[in-house]
Amino acid sequence: MIPISATLERVQPSPTIAVTQRARDLRAEGRDVIGLGAGEPDFDTPRHIKDAAIAALEAGKTKYTAPDGIPELKEAIAAKFLRDNGLRYTPAEIGVSSGGKQVLFNALMATLNPGDEVIVPAPYWVSYPDMVRMAGADPVIVPCGLDTGFKLSPEALEAAITPRTRWVILNSPSNPTGAGYARDELRALSDVLMRHPHVWVMSDDIYEHIAHDGFTFCTPAEVEPGLRDRTLTVNGVSKAYAMTGWRIGYAGGPEPLITAMRKVQSQSTSCPCSISQWAAVAALTGPQDYIAESCAAFRRRRDLVVDRLNAIPGIDCPVPQGAFYVFPSIAGLIGRTSAGGQRIDDDETFAAALLEEEGVAVVFGAAFGLSPHFRVSYATSDDVLEDACDRIARFCGGLG
Ligand code: PLP
Repeated sequence: MIPISATLERVQPSPTIAVTQRARDLRAEGRDVIGLGAGEPDFDTPRHIKDAAIAALEAGKTKYTAPDGIPELKEAIAAKFLRDNGLRYTPAEIGVSSGGKQVLFNALMATLNPGDEVIVPAPYWVSYPDMVRMAGADPVIVPCGLDTGFKLSPEALEAAITPRTRWVILNSPSNPTGAGYARDELRALSDVLMRHPHVWVMSDDIYEHIAHDGFTFCTPAEVEPGLRDRTLTVNGVSKAYAMTGWRIGYAGGPEPLITAMRKVQSQSTSCPCSISQWAAVAALTGPQDYIAESCAAFRRRRDLVVDRLNAIPGIDCPVPQGAFYVFPSIAGLIGRTSAGGQRIDDDETFAAALLEEEGVAVVFGAAFGLSPHFRVSYATSDDVLEDACDRIARFCGGLG
């Protein structure tokens, strides 16, 4: 057996990908399984974006590109940052990678040393802590429960900062809770950060466009221009334009950081897919109607799921402001026993029993650093969601 590196030994495989795979395996065995684990829109990529990719293919745009993206895409990204966020970035301050995930990874690899700390508010997107560990540093998890709306408070941020803190990672609207920071909340966090000039801000804005109930998205570099020179503003086309498989993410930030991230990329993936980059140009510069249409569908599904889950005794489902997830508490179900005889000790046993007995795949809260909760991705059709909620209600109703 080849020895695995000490760094990788500290890393867990992605639990969301594991749940999706388990659902796939059960389906392959012929089981009727509903997957509510995957974090991707069920809609198809809009036609004009696909057409741009086909045109790029036909035009022979099939070669390596500049490591951090074609100039046309960087220009489209600069225009997007200005249009949507009031942020001015030059092309040299913009980098493109194979998904927002690689942007975050490159940034952490480019900047962290052993002993460095990265503040990660929990619940967090599953990959943040493990990416920090892969870069040799230590995640500092700050629990943010229902009492603060799953959001980091200025007091908790202040308390978590040490001389070793390199980054704080913010994600709004959030995966897994859908919670979003209002302008005054970001302002309060910025006030703390302005007192600690050694702390950098990684703002993961990937769900920017999926916002509900008049929630107005804002991002730290815009709220506090004083933070701009130590903020990496991360975004991508995966969620906004139903382009998860195309693998294009991007960021704006100070040039020396973007240059260091380019170095990581040039020695790993060389460049993002050329055809996908042309598709992303069409996404960012073409008609934007898809965003409002998909948002309306997500809002309807959110209301359906929140209402149905809150009608189940023992489940408490807060109403999220964005993204396409809900993160209900199952505190009222702990200690009970399922109809199939499985004791619900925690959210992991809850999710396992729900999958085995009712064929509904959800991700347990511990995977996101907060229990006892589970995450439902409602980026699937209304019929499937109704069916899933029927099954969850039956499962919970059967608990003894
Ligand atoms: N950030 C968050 C919070 C996410 O949920 C995801 C995907 O699930 C990503 C980043 C990465 O998205 P992508 O790599 O597809 O751009």
